[in-house]
Amino acid sequence: MVDRLADPLLSGVYGGEAANLSVRAVLPRFAEMERTHGSLGKAMLASRRKMSSARKPAPALFTSLKNGMQSLAQTIVSRLRPDALLTSTPVLAVQQQREAGGWIVSAGLKSDQFDAVVVALPGPAAANVLHITNAELSRELGAIQYSSSITVALGYDDQVRRSLPPGFGFLVPRSEGKRLLAATFVHNKFPHRAPPDRALLRCFFAGSNAESVWPYSDDQIIGIVRNELQNILGLRAEPLFARVYKWKSAMAQYGVGHLERLERIQQLRQQLPGLALAGNAYRGIGVPDCVRSGRDAAIALLKRTA
Ligand SMILES: Cc1cc2nc3c(=O)[nH]c(=O)nc-3n(C[C@H](O)[C@H](O)[C@H](O)COP(=O)(O)OP(=O)(O)OC[C@H]3O[C@@H](n4cnc5c(N)ncnc54)[C@H](O)[C@@H]3O)c2cc1C
Repeated sequence: MVDRLADPLLSGVYGGEAANLSVRAVLPRFAEMERTHGSLGKAMLASRRKMSSARKPAPALFTSLKNGMQSLAQTIVSRLRPDALLTSTPVLAVQQQREAGGWIVSAGLKSDQFDAVVVALPGPAAANVLHITNAELSRELGAIQYSSSITVALGYDDQVRRSLPPGFGFLVPRSEGKRLLAATFVHNKFPHRAPPDRALLRCFFAGSNAESVWPYSDDQIIGIVRNELQNILGLRAEPLFARVYKWKSAMAQYGVGHLERLERIQQLRQQLPGLALAGNAYRGIGVPDCVRSGRDAAIALLKRTA
């Protein structure tokens, strides 16, 4: 069960290895289900009974933005005043002004003063910019581990599309000895992302497998993917196009002890009025979790300044 289902599924979401993750941090609902029902099997049966008596239509299994994830950032940018934005300029430091109150944010050659700041950076980047303000908080943030992943998109013609098995794709258990962790049949999962006579496969390397192929050229990585697709699906056709996307240290790994670390971070942050933290380092790496954490951070700061 763990090898063939839980590990590939969790690796697909977190990009790491299930054995290193904290179930209370990653799947709090499962931990609660086990606590209240005595086993996950019993909890599943109970929730099935509840669902069939509710008779509500099941929500869509997968949802996304029609014009791609970039449209989320573009929409936010379009609603901000251009003179309030500073892009392509890494923040170097976020410093508390102990006496005057407020914060100084230094980015590139500029420094500006703010009443309050939301630091929405990956843990290690947040650690760097907050180091001068509070070394202990910086240490805790820097200790949150991240894993890298690589996705490879391959486009095929209609003949390949018709030859593929039905469904949304597949996960590969570690015990199969492959480097690929998963492949999504994007044309089935999100039909608007491929013309009706084309197939779009999105293949995924995560964790140590992503690290092991990281130094290779795009052509070499595409070669590995095609070789594994041939082994798994019998797919030999030449793709119409292939693109490699590398995501360095992009997915936070909630290891055992993560919730205790969050408690310590929360206590340290409370000593720094006007500072809020948001993003995938804390309580969920999915986009909805990150949006929620940003909204919570903004609300907390606005309440304080109201
Ligand atoms: C391959 C892949 C597939 C995924 N698939 C899904 C999915 O299907 N569904 C889902 O819900 N989630 C998915 N996720 C997870 C989700 O996309 C991320 O967890 C989420 O986007 C993280 O948002 P964030 O704002 O916390 O961090 P990021 O999006 O990483 O944003 C942090 C930003 O901080 C910037 N930055 C870093 N240092 C500095 C600095 N010093 N100064 C200024 N800026 C800085 C970075 O450039 C970056 O833009 C996926 C992630 C990956 C990598």
